[in-house]
Amino acid sequence: MENANITSLVAQYPLVEELIALKETTWFNPKATSLAEGLPWVGLTQADVDDAHARLARFAPWLAQAFPETAKNHGIIESALVALPTMHSRLEKESGITIPGTLLLKKDSHLPISGSIKARGGIYEVLAHAEKLALAAGLLSLEDDYSKLLEPQYREFFGRHSIAVGSTGNLGLSIGIASARVGFKVTVHMSADAREWKKAKLRSHGVTVVEYEQDYGVAVEQGRKAAESDPNCFFIDDENSHTLFLGYAVAGERLKAQFTEQGRVIDAEHPLFVYLPCGVGGGPGGVAFGLKLAFGDHVHCIFAEPTHSPCMLLGVYTGLHDQIAVQDLGIDNLTAADGLAVGRASGFVGRAMERLLDGFYTLSDQSMYDMLGWLAQEENIRLEPSALAGMAGPVRIAASGRYALENATHLVWATGGGMVPEDEMEKYLAKGQ
Ligand SMILES: *Cc1c(COP(=O)(O)O)cnc(C)c1O
Repeated sequence: MENANITSLVAQYPLVEELIALKETTWFNPKATSLAEGLPWVGLTQADVDDAHARLARFAPWLAQAFPETAKNHGIIESALVALPTMHSRLEKESGITIPGTLLLKKDSHLPISGSIKARGGIYEVLAHAEKLALAAGLLSLEDDYSKLLEPQYREFFGRHSIAVGSTGNLGLSIGIASARVGFKVTVHMSADAREWKKAKLRSHGVTVVEYEQDYGVAVEQGRKAAESDPNCFFIDDENSHTLFLGYAVAGERLKAQFTEQGRVIDAEHPLFVYLPCGVGGGPGGVAFGLKLAFGDHVHCIFAEPTHSPCMLLGVYTGLHDQIAVQDLGIDNLTAADGLAVGRASGFVGRAMERLLDGFYTLSDQSMYDMLGWLAQEENIRLEPSALAGMAGPVRIAASGRYALENATHLVWATGGGMVPEDEMEKYLAKGQ
């Protein structure tokens, strides 16, 4: 972007200057409104989420057999919800700010199959594609026991089809592992920041990994191009896919059931605040959509991004959405937070969800490392840096003084880390303060 254009953008949107200076920033969204008013802009409905629930239920017998670690939950991929009482005190002590309410952690970091939030959307989209192909070929009906898709003749059928995806790591891991298990030929286009162990794990599952020197945007573009030349290849489009989004949205009702089971009430007097790390936006956007459908105006969703990759804040704040990238402002998009190193936000998610999100904030990599260390010390829970992005949220919300928090539930969405090798985790822990 020309310097003159940056100057006029800053004049109109003063917060852009803080983003360029890589300052930790909190922005409350003036477009935020009620579910009733915001829902029509999403373009998707409760019926679409119900459809995703039903599809995952049909695949549950397949999942239970294909991935035995899902069998004890009957083939339903869902994560635990845990309280963080000592981390709560540690956050208060370190920040000097009292955080009224209860602090909880949603452990998508420990979801089966791929150890990140991508085990929701990524695997769902692969299964939706497999179902569509098998139904169209007359090989499957909705009433069948889908575990039959593990038989050789089906795997041979799926082997005539391929899947491609561009990823910073975790989406590739989910889509690669699930696709290979279905029987698809699968290629993952990995950006430069993707970890070696993720590439090695994929290759061990028979996935083709193509590596790029550039960031996520380039990996996605190259993946899209490679897929275009092959009519039997399905490209999973992280930036625009409604299917991925709906796979994430299922989390809303699942969480509601977990709260009910634990006797936790969410209503006007007992509001819920959910802090979601944001990369391109599909994961947090889809989860937030599901949460809004499940809890209505009693849930407040806040997105968290690295100071070096504040693409969603920038897009929503300026209204430019995917028409601007952080690199246009000279922001380098370099962060240790896997999955969050995205320079240009999904235009679909930003436009769909901007009326249903209370706020956005940025935090430094060092803040993530510090909280990673505190969480390990206080609660003995180990996450990857990106999964700590949401942990700063309760402090920001308490400091803002905008909400009555006495009876609040603060839910930090832990998005990854369950499969990080021990030696990598030691390196992360060493970086904490
Ligand atoms: C992908 C990812 C996110 C964010 O999801 P998006 O759909 O890219 O916004 C957050 N945390 C982790 C660990 C991820 O892998």
